[in-house]
Amino acid sequence: MATTTGSKCRMCRRQGEKLFLKGERCGTAKCAILKRNFPPGAHGAKGTGRMSGYGLQLREKQKAKRLYGLLEAQFRKYYENARRIKGNSSEIMVRLLETRFDNVVFRLGLAKSRAMARQMVNHGMFNINGHKNDIPSVALKPNDVITIDPSKASKKIFENLHDQLKKHETPSWLFIDVEKLEGKMLSYPEGEELKQPFDPKFIIEFYSR
Ligand code: SF4
Repeated sequence: MATTTGSKCRMCRRQGEKLFLKGERCGTAKCAILKRNFPPGAHGAKGTGRMSGYGLQLREKQKAKRLYGLLEAQFRKYYENARRIKGNSSEIMVRLLETRFDNVVFRLGLAKSRAMARQMVNHGMFNINGHKNDIPSVALKPNDVITIDPSKASKKIFENLHDQLKKHETPSWLFIDVEKLEGKMLSYPEGEELKQPFDPKFIIEFYSR
C-alpha cells in the first residue's frame, strides 16, 4: 500500500502549524513546532514572504493531504469524486475524507493518530459490521459498526484503551460504547461537523484551475 513518507514533523514545519500527526508526542514540549517553527531547509528560518492566491490554495491542499496522510493521486481522487456528486463540492470532499475507515477509527479514539489508525486497519485489527476489513480507504456509511477483531483484542496496543476513550471527545456523528469497545457511525457529518483546520474551498479552486 502506498503511504506518505518523510518526517511528519517536517510536514508541520513546512505548513507552519501543528497538524497533530504523531499522536501523544504532539501535546508535549518535544513538538518540533514549539522548538523550530520555521520551514525546514537551509533557508527556512528566513521565512517565505507574502503568499499569492495560488500559494494559499496550494497550502490548504497540502495541509489537508498531510492531515489525512494521503499521496497526491489518492487525494486528488477525493476532489474528482466530490465533483461527480451533486451538491456543494467542498462539503462533499470533506465528507468523503472524514468517512474513510482509518479516519473513523481515529475519530472514535481507537488510535492516537491517523497514521496509527491506518496501520492498525492494515493489520486487520478491526471489523466492520462483524467482518474483518483491512482497507483504510473504505467509505463508511450510517449504522456501520466498528469493533476490534477478537483475535487482536489482547494486543498491547489496546492496553489502557478504556481509560484513553474516557478522555476522548468523539464527534457527534459518531458514537463509541466505551465498555463494549464498539463504535458506530450515526450519520454523515454535516454543517459544523465538517469544519476542519483547512479551507476546502481553496482545494476545490486549486484543482479547478
Ligand atoms: Fe506536528 Fe506532532 Fe511533530 Fe508537533 S510533534 S511537529 S504537531 S507531528
